[in-house]
Amino acid sequence: MIVMKFGGSSVSDAERIRDVLEIVRARLDRAPIVVISAFRGVTDDLFALAEEALRSDFSRLEKVRARHHEAADALGVDRDLLRENLEELSVLLKGISLVKELTPRTLDYVVSFGERLSTRLIAAAFTRVGVPAEQHDAFDIGLLTDDHFGGAQPLPEAEPEIKRHVGRMAKLPVITGYIGKTRDGDITTLGRNGSDFTATIIGAAVGAEEVQIWSDTDGIMTADPRLVPEARPIEQLTFEEASELAYYGGKVLHPATIVPAILKRIPVRALNTFKPDHKGTTILPSIENHPTGVKSIAHHLGNYVVNITSSRMLMGHGFLARIFEIFARHKIVVNMVATSEVSVSVTTDSPRHLDRAAKELEAIGEVSVEKNCAIVCVVGEGLKFMAGIAGDVFWALREAGVNVLMISQGASKINVAFVVKDEDVHRAVRALHRKFF
Ligand code: ASP
Ligand code: MG
Repeated sequence: MIVMKFGGSSVSDAERIRDVLEIVRARLDRAPIVVISAFRGVTDDLFALAEEALRSDFSRLEKVRARHHEAADALGVDRDLLRENLEELSVLLKGISLVKELTPRTLDYVVSFGERLSTRLIAAAFTRVGVPAEQHDAFDIGLLTDDHFGGAQPLPEAEPEIKRHVGRMAKLPVITGYIGKTRDGDITTLGRNGSDFTATIIGAAVGAEEVQIWSDTDGIMTADPRLVPEARPIEQLTFEEASELAYYGGKVLHPATIVPAILKRIPVRALNTFKPDHKGTTILPSIENHPTGVKSIAHHLGNYVVNITSSRMLMGHGFLARIFEIFARHKIVVNMVATSEVSVSVTTDSPRHLDRAAKELEAIGEVSVEKNCAIVCVVGEGLKFMAGIAGDVFWALREAGVNVLMISQGASKINVAFVVKDEDVHRAVRALHRKFF
């Protein structure tokens, strides 16, 4: 059994969907379970729609409806399959406009329609081309989550439930990515790009031999090709390298994605829908004779650096605990930390409540917040043991005239991470790519 997940770019229109049908058809002997994202851009449209509904503006709904109707017509699928969902969405938006309130719970409900629509359409398209398929909303086949709307986590009972349901499926399953439900029956989402996560949750539940993540690049690249045109695909990565890359913004995978795969040691492959014969990137628990050294350079824009400085920190104890208690209480996710005798610097990409946290931190020391900062992360197994890598990194940056605001190494034995201003990220990544590749 394999899980095949197709992202938004693989299902942007009828033409692309036809490619998906053929890619899956060619692998039917491996008993695929298909997981599908919303059509490209539809989740963004739904987020916007929910906000616009507060002002009783529903014009974008027509666009969403038309996109799906066009695709249905082009694939020879009955539009009527989508009617119920489109009506429910329309009523929901009216409701938002009436109560003039948009809670995280309602927002998840609205954006869930992207996957619910795309999978209905694609399952019917499979059947039409002679591959009998059945659509499933993930929450109807056991994907139970906590009630952390906008970033829900699966509950322990999800795994056995999913296994039980999938075991009874006779036709090709086409399952919604990204969404789940609480025990109380509220729809949740797993966070942006969460369909990858759905794929590995299902893969782990059924003990799949492999989880395939199909998108529009030749796998995971040595750097973001939009920044570095000469970036190239990486053939193999370890789980550790891949999760470090995902965490620091290596676009192809959702950061939580690999966790279920790691636990069950299921290989994950990143593949290209546009070039199905390209071998992409394979992510494995461990790799024999895996070369050490730099594998990839990831970056993540739009972070905030919070500096807390206090001379009282000198030889004091409990400062870090107090600082992190404040971040935790405001639900601010801290990504990177650096400390000295008199200061602590942390980065976060969640600006919500940051002002309030900063106010409280002022009781501990002087606080400054710097916006528009980028984390750049150089990843590779064995980096910690390679003398001089950090030297090479910072030498290359110096030559490129990039100012480094913060550095971290050691938390993980496989990365060197540092912070620069967003506007310097282009120069930094290019200089490092030139240096290491
Ligand atoms: N459709 C969702 C999003 O755009 C989930 C996904 O594509 O993985 O974030
Ligand atoms: Mg994606």
